This record gives sequence, structure tokens and C-alpha cells, in this order.
Amino acid sequence: MSVETRKQGIGTRCVHAGYNPGKGEPRQIPVIQSTTFKYQTSEQMGKLFDLEESGYFYSRLQNPTNDHVAAKIANLEGGVAAMLTSSGQAANLIAWLNLCQAGDHIVSAGNIYGGTFNLLGTSLGKLGIEVTFVNPDASEEEISAAIRPQTKLVFGETLSNPGVEVLDIEKFAKIAHSHGVPLIIDNTFATPILCRPFEFGADIVTHSTTKYMDGHGVAVGGAIVDSGNFDWEAHADKFPGLCTPDASYHGLVYTKAFGKNAFIVKATSQLMRDFGAIQSPQNAFYLNLGLQSLHLRIKRHSESALAVARFLAGHPDVAWVKYPGLETDKHHADAVKYLQGGFSGVMCIGLKGDREFSKKFIDSLQLITIETHVADCHSCILHPASHTHRQLTDEQLRAAGIAPELMRLSIGLEDAEDVIEDLRQALEAAHK
Ligand SMILES: *Cc1c(COP(=O)(O)O)cnc(C)c1O
Repeated sequence: MSVETRKQGIGTRCVHAGYNPGKGEPRQIPVIQSTTFKYQTSEQMGKLFDLEESGYFYSRLQNPTNDHVAAKIANLEGGVAAMLTSSGQAANLIAWLNLCQAGDHIVSAGNIYGGTFNLLGTSLGKLGIEVTFVNPDASEEEISAAIRPQTKLVFGETLSNPGVEVLDIEKFAKIAHSHGVPLIIDNTFATPILCRPFEFGADIVTHSTTKYMDGHGVAVGGAIVDSGNFDWEAHADKFPGLCTPDASYHGLVYTKAFGKNAFIVKATSQLMRDFGAIQSPQNAFYLNLGLQSLHLRIKRHSESALAVARFLAGHPDVAWVKYPGLETDKHHADAVKYLQGGFSGVMCIGLKGDREFSKKFIDSLQLITIETHVADCHSCILHPASHTHRQLTDEQLRAAGIAPELMRLSIGLEDAEDVIEDLRQALEAAHK
């Protein structure tokens, strides 16, 4: 029985899935630092280029190190196939472009990560792909009204960045499926340790592996996982790229040739071939080291963040705390339904007082560092009004949906008492 097919716990699979070395082979997934791969005959090579045989030929499309790590992520998510990409941005871009072309349309939750919002709202528009952003808490009818005949997919984040709002995945899946299109979920903040979106009807999952999966702030990367559940052929008119012949492979039809693997095979052999946004095998190696302790780290991030959120919620200088683990949070019921074993390490907070008070608080922090990053082992903080959005007035910030006092706080793997002590002393110092 292979490691993949046994019903093992998620921790065991974090350590072992995707790689099962034989006699005398490396215990750890080796870094295959090679751009190309050798063959004996011209016929062997020809069959690879016709996708008649599987095999490696060039690391712009596929590399064995990446494939072991991708197989691990597919296993953790409960999917049939996965691929690694150079970044989280590339993962979402490739997942969408595998289904969309000029003239097509995407419906997305509006509360998503700013980088993804720009990619959808600005750059894809220049390629002729339109997007409609919807309020994720709107009713089924309101969200359905955004879907057009040209809509090819629905998109959202399990836990939104930075607002840590929990998406009602079942509601979104129902809407997408009733219109014959798949639901793509960015599962970056939850990771498969806390949530496996396929269990709630999502069809494809994407990740910025740069965050918790790497978890140490060392390697930018992304991943795409396919559940294998969406029936492309049942909606063949919407997905000609998957269901009609690909002239660049002598008329091969992905759904006919590859069945449940059609989505990932097309994204690899067509889009990676053409766009080249692959992860380096060295980064995939680092990613695997992160994955091997993901189950332990997410548990610790979540426990510490809940303790910090409770401390801040009870502090007189704190106006509000947004964390799905707090019973008072707007999305707590959905958090309990969709997340298992914790609520992640990210929260948003707002202090009482003006921008200057927030600035003095941040400058007084000693352990928690100022970073644009989130979701790794180091606790860090970002204040959009002082950092990423500093050119905007309070009114302009509010118009962009960002409270001037909002700070994103990411709890790392330090002892929770030390993080709390740092917050306590910085709040005190900000009064001086
Ligand atoms: C960071 C992030 C991305 C982008 O990932 P990169 O690896 O930085 O390209 C996409 N989605 C979410 C939810 C993120 O947090």
C-alpha cells in the first residue's frame, strides 16, 4: 500500500506524503537541480513532446522535486493532482487562465488580498477578462445576480487577507455549481490543517506557499490543487480549452486523454510551457521542510493567537479585535463550521486614539517586528495608514475599506506570554 492511499493522520502525511524512497534512495526529498533530462532515442523524446508518455524533459514545465512536494500538498488537501508555481500570484493567475480567455468573466469575493484584487481588477482587465467583486456576506440571490453567460469561475479566500473573514464556502460552491462553473478557493491562511475546502464543495484550491506552508519567511512560492470533481465535459461549451483539441499538441483533448487530471496536465503542459512561472526546485525543497512541521506550527500559531486576541480584547486601549476565534466575532459560527483545530495566527486590531498613538505603539514594540509579511514564525505587524497606504487621508482610507486605526498582527511561534508582554509594554509606552 502506498503512503498516499493509506488513511493516515494529517501530521503523518505532512511528514511522508508525496515521497516514498526505495532501497538506498535519499531519505529526504532530494533537490534535482537540473534544467533538463536525458533520453536514449529520438522516439522517446518525441513521445514526451506529444504527451503520449509522462517524463521530465525541461524544468520550465516540471521537475521531480517540485512534483514530490506538489503531491504532498494534493494529499493534504484531498485532491487528485497539484503543481507548484513561482508565487501565490502565479498560482491564482495560472488557475484562472487555465479556464478564461479574453471576453470571459470572473466573479470574486471583494474582501480578498490586495495583490489578488489588483491582479483581477487591473491586470486581467488589460487582457480582456472582466471581474465583478461581490460582498461575500450577500445573499445567494445577490451573488448569483453577478454571474453572466461568460462567467467561467467563482473565486474567494477561506480566510481573507487581511480581514480574516471566513468565507461561506458551501454557499459559494452552490452558486458556482448552479451556473455550471467551478469554485476556486485560495486556502493560504487556513492551510489544509485547518480547512480542506474540497470537503465543502470547492473544486480547485490555490495557495501562496510563501505564508504558513513555508512558515519561516525563506521562499516565495505557490501551489494549485485540483479536486478532480468538476465535470468539465458536462459544461464543454464553457471550457473549450479543456474539452476541444489543443493544436499545440497535435489536437489532443485534455479531458479525453487525462480524465480527472485534465486541469493540472493542461496548466502544466500548456501554461507552464508558455509562461514559465515555475517554482525553483531549491525553493520546493525549503517548502517541503516547512510542510513537514505544518501541523505542529499551525496548532501553535492558533493557540498563541487566541491568547493574544483575548488579551487585546480585554485591554482598555484597544478599540476592537477582529479574530474569528473570538466568540464575539461576526464570522465565529462559520469559523467553527469550516475551521478545525484552530483559527490561524492572523488578526486585525484597532487602538483607541489617533494615528499618532498607533504609530507610537508600533515604534515601541521590541519583539514584534514591522513587516509587510504575515504568517510565518516571527510575530509581525503592519499598519496600512502608516505603511502601505501612508499617502491616503483618513477619509480616503475609509473609502478604500481600511479603518485608519487598522493594524494587521501576525502571531509567530514565540512563547505567547512574551508576545503579550511586548504588546502590554508598547501600549503603556505609547501614552508617554
Ligand atoms: C500573499 C498572498 C497571495 C500572494 O502570494 P505571493 O506568494 O506573495 O505571490 C495570495 N493570496 C493570499 C491570501 C495571500 O496572503
